[in-house]
Amino acid sequence: MYVMCAGLALDNAGRLVWHVMAKNDTITLCGQPAPADDGGGEAGRNCATCMARVREKMQVRSA
Ligand SMILES: [Zn+2]
Repeated sequence: MYVMCAGLALDNAGRLVWHVMAKNDTITLCGQPAPADDGGGEAGRNCATCMARVREKMQVRSA
């Protein structure tokens, strides 16, 4: 199970994106430390790296 968490984008300093993190993990799927909760709701886009990882995991699971 995965959760979304708002955090700084890897490629856009200062911009918030939605990272994906495994429910019981401490790093996001793109390898960042779990972002601090900064209120939420301000992130616009999804982290492309996290999204790609989720897609990979979904494919593995359904194969
Ligand atoms: Zn990410």
